[in-house]
Amino acid sequence: INLPLRMSRRAVVRLLIALTLMFSLASVAAVVAQPAQAAVGDGCYTWSRVPLSSGMSGADVPQLQIRVAGWMAYGEVLSIDGSFGPKTEAAVRRFQAGYGLSVDGVAGPQTLGKIVELQKNDCSPAHFAWSEVDGGCGQGGFSGGALPPDQIKENLKRAMWKAEAMRHKLGDRPINASGFRSYSCNNSIPNADPNSQHLYGRALDLTATWGTVTGGLCDIARAARYAGYNGILGPGYQYHNDHVHVDSRSSRSWAAPTCGI
Ligand code: ZN
Repeated sequence: INLPLRMSRRAVVRLLIALTLMFSLASVAAVVAQPAQAAVGDGCYTWSRVPLSSGMSGADVPQLQIRVAGWMAYGEVLSIDGSFGPKTEAAVRRFQAGYGLSVDGVAGPQTLGKIVELQKNDCSPAHFAWSEVDGGCGQGGFSGGALPPDQIKENLKRAMWKAEAMRHKLGDRPINASGFRSYSCNNSIPNADPNSQHLYGRALDLTATWGTVTGGLCDIARAARYAGYNGILGPGYQYHNDHVHVDSRSSRSWAAPTCGI
């Protein structure tokens, strides 16, 4: 029987080579043009570039950095600079390990999904609230401080995310926080620093009802050293026996002698 399309042996070999090349090129193209992954977000923020990984930069990177900045090595502070470098990658790895995710240092759907799960639509982290960090004297509105209210809120958001990390590392035990103070509020507090970090929204005062007062507070003070806080003042430091003050001042100042800090 003569086939209608009879091919010589040589033509068959050529056809096979051509097909092999086509498939190789197609698979190379598939790798290069990685299909974009679905955006991950909520009412607070949506990451449309997924995944985020080392070497990337852009406006979506600081939104990640703020949320992993509490997962640092001892004494380290993460710059919220929009560049996904080695410190950001290490923080992402610690975050992933801390929440039992696969650890690869890449912020993909699983990691960003966990972050979204940990935040509310109003951008506060799951276990801290704007209401508790607004106005140590109860006046509200984030006004009357050293910065405009939107900057105060941004600083408080960063401080709360670090506290959220610390809370999880301490076994998800409740931590209460207060934060912002207006000048009039700060001035009404005996012995308050007249240029307190609370005026800038950079500071939280933390208390815990679990354990002994000193025990719980010292656990917090020790954990704060791994949570990206440059300022830590706690038990044994004047006026700090009943709470731990943490803040993001520009250089390290730690004192909690009762806790060995
Ligand atoms: Zn304080």
